[in-house]
Amino acid sequence: MKTIPTALFILLSSVAVLGSPGLGRAASERSPVTLEGQTTSAELDEETLCAIGRGRKCDIRLAIKQGLFETGLSPRFPENLKCRGIDERWAISYTHKRNRESYHGGIDMPAPFGTPMIAAAAGTVVGKYRGDRSYRGMEIILRHSPEDTGIPLWTYTQYAHFDEMPKLEVGQRVRMGEVLGPTGNSGKTPTRRKRGKQRRPAIHFAVWYSTSPRFVALRNKIIPVDGQWMDPNALFRKKLPLDSYSMKALPEAEKKVPISVMVEDGKVIPAETRIVWPYTCRRG
Ligand SMILES: [Zn+2]
Repeated sequence: MKTIPTALFILLSSVAVLGSPGLGRAASERSPVTLEGQTTSAELDEETLCAIGRGRKCDIRLAIKQGLFETGLSPRFPENLKCRGIDERWAISYTHKRNRESYHGGIDMPAPFGTPMIAAAAGTVVGKYRGDRSYRGMEIILRHSPEDTGIPLWTYTQYAHFDEMPKLEVGQRVRMGEVLGPTGNSGKTPTRRKRGKQRRPAIHFAVWYSTSPRFVALRNKIIPVDGQWMDPNALFRKKLPLDSYSMKALPEAEKKVPISVMVEDGKVIPAETRIVWPYTCRRG
């Protein structure tokens, strides 16, 4: 029998503190069905749990080691289209916002309240959270097979700060470009933020990946077995490599990643893409 790693124990303890009687019940309450690829925490090593889960007691260096660091990638949108860009780059320091060493585990794109967030690829809903105690607020996580994306990896995309809970259910399949829900600014505000200052409405978009198809669903997190962080811009390369070490080492010219998108009328550019930006673009 495997012993429970310390960090996992801390996570499980926090589940108990928040009012659930234990992992068994919490897990069964949250996901009555076991999804394809879903496995138990016994398959997670402590390093992955900390690298992706980033619990309070976790060493931030584990997340950095698994790819959470700046790569210098930026999006290049198709010409003649108006697309919603990023205002805070991936993996920038959030230490000043969190009172501890911390890095932005996603990219933010501001958009007016109600702007539909769309699925970046076909996939399955594996996580959906109200996030009352989370900085991310209302959130959904999709899992994409290699067939869904054309990338020979299992990828996970996260969409957060919805204005209302997405109607999609855990276990449901979604199509590329399917509307997930409206943009908002839900989520706990950082403690150091000035009183009364509200978060701007935006999508928080993050990507993880693994060569393993397996993942673990925790209380409010999805942890892929052997999971790694991906700069979300790298997803749009649609080919390997896309790990952060290789991305950082790319020549500058290659760091501007051509982004495939869906236009408001439902057309996708380029036509054969299986991955699109999580907001539609406008013509003209
Ligand atoms: Zn964010």
